[in-house]
Amino acid sequence: MMTRDFLHDKKRIVVKIGSSSLTHKESGSLNLSKLEKLVRMLTNLKNMGKDVVLVSSGAIAVGRKKMGLRDGVLSLPEKQACAAIGQAQLMMIYQKLFSEYNQNVSQLLLTKVTMVNELSRINAVNTFNELFKLNVIPIVNENDTISTYEIEFGDNDRLSAIVSALIGADLLILLSDIDGLYTDDPNVNQDARFIKTVEKLDDHLMNMGKDSSSSKVGTGGMATKLIAAQIATYSGTDMVIANGEDISVIERILEGEEVGTLFCANKTEAFDMIEFISQ
Ligand code: GLU
Repeated sequence: MMTRDFLHDKKRIVVKIGSSSLTHKESGSLNLSKLEKLVRMLTNLKNMGKDVVLVSSGAIAVGRKKMGLRDGVLSLPEKQACAAIGQAQLMMIYQKLFSEYNQNVSQLLLTKVTMVNELSRINAVNTFNELFKLNVIPIVNENDTISTYEIEFGDNDRLSAIVSALIGADLLILLSDIDGLYTDDPNVNQDARFIKTVEKLDDHLMNMGKDSSSSKVGTGGMATKLIAAQIATYSGTDMVIANGEDISVIERILEGEEVGTLFCANKTEAFDMIEFISQ
């Protein structure tokens, strides 16, 4: 059995948290005690000398709650408006919580075009590098207000893997509402088995990615997490999917505990991330 002790030494870590992990299921309001724990945990990683990036969803969920639009499906302009309202609100809360620990944070809103266009991609990388030098935590989301394509098809699982590849992160942690990868949807199939480690992604595994997450608020299910795993591992980043219900899972992952599903980095020279995401 492979030990996970090597996860101690990770230097550049991207943590992605989804809307369903940030909000209370019943009310749709932000789960402030969870956010506080997340902020303390990430600041502590910085204090350990690591580079940290937070990819946070929640813009649409927060905006929709603020405007009282919780029930039913939103139209695209409604989603865009909610994202514009919610992103500002979300950042205000992150700023407030991080400032309690004197940790500076920044906002980076990216689109698919930012990644595909070489000049804007280089600009984004330069900004990330400068922020790391300044010991600032970049907080990333999609620029939902202008990227209609991203709202309809995109998701922050994929975005966090792309960011990891872009900045040469050595670990990506996807906090989800599911414990990790199962052989089948555990909500439906009682015989579904948990997979602790994926050393190599193959077609068989990719087909397991049915929409097994019960989330109604985010856009990512297991299929998008497996695409994220492809992007991350082929680019040389280890990735762990774990349940974000208890934020201390981040610490446990870095202590090498066997929580969540570990997807081992498998740097593939032939893998062209930009071509992959342009398809
Ligand atoms: N970017 C969206 C938001 O912040 C969420 C995307 C996702 O759930 O993956 O609301």
